Amino acid sequence: MRIETAVSREEFAAAYLSAVGKSDAAKGDGRLTSDRFVGMAYGIYEKLIEGSKKANLTAILSPDGVAQRHILDSLIPYLFLEKRGIVKDGVRIADVGCGAGFPTLPIAAFAASCGVALSVTAIDSTAKKIRFLTETAGSLGISGIDAVSGRAEELARPGGGFREKYGLTVARAVAPLPVVLELTAPFVKTGGYVTAYKGREDEEESAASIAGKLGLTGPEKIAYTLPSGDARTFFIYEKAAPTPARYPRPYAKIVSNK
Ligand code: SAH
Repeated sequence: MRIETAVSREEFAAAYLSAVGKSDAAKGDGRLTSDRFVGMAYGIYEKLIEGSKKANLTAILSPDGVAQRHILDSLIPYLFLEKRGIVKDGVRIADVGCGAGFPTLPIAAFAASCGVALSVTAIDSTAKKIRFLTETAGSLGISGIDAVSGRAEELARPGGGFREKYGLTVARAVAPLPVVLELTAPFVKTGGYVTAYKGREDEEESAASIAGKLGLTGPEKIAYTLPSGDARTFFIYEKAAPTPARYPRPYAKIVSNK
């Protein structure tokens, strides 16, 4: 738990707008700096500060940290997916291991602020994070979010109710890439996309064998840098074939890969 006080909207907006202006991938996109979206970004920041008094939600709580490492980092890959036509009206997204709501909250808020109707099912095994996300989405009036508490490998198995229902999965900072792919690919329909937000590390080779078994092709890799200098890689796999029913395996098997 952390006791911090939220800065004013003006102070947060200054940190956020400065971060957008220093980001090659984000600057110049007026939708990111609209009053409506800046207001929503501030709302997310305020709720994180408030929620962190009651529960451990995230280590990043400074205005600049939230602006760069939660809001912008969630949205830069979204802008790319939009350009590629992968996110558009009506797409169903699953955010696996959403934590306190990243990338779910920025994505759903941004889409709503630009009139794009998408839906996000946000999944996490920690119930208090799911409660926080549900409350935050409700009180900020961010529509299209359905938050589910549970383990991905259980929800995604055949008969679990969520399998092969989504056009896109996102997962940020959840696990090593091979584990992320097995936890997420079963949620996606054939022809959809499985993506992962990662740090600088290049894990593509270690994931190649399991990606093929799960029915995935790719990846396409998008490299970007946050204004702080932090390097990120966003992986995009396409689901070319249905995932065999034996995946996802129980978590211990996914991790040991035996
Ligand atoms: N995506 C968020 C949270 C990252 S922390 C962010 O970027 O801020 C990783 C989260 O994944 C944790 O909240 C953890 O509870 C969740 N998680 C890890 N393995 C999971 C699994 N098998 N099923 C559901 N949630 C999982």
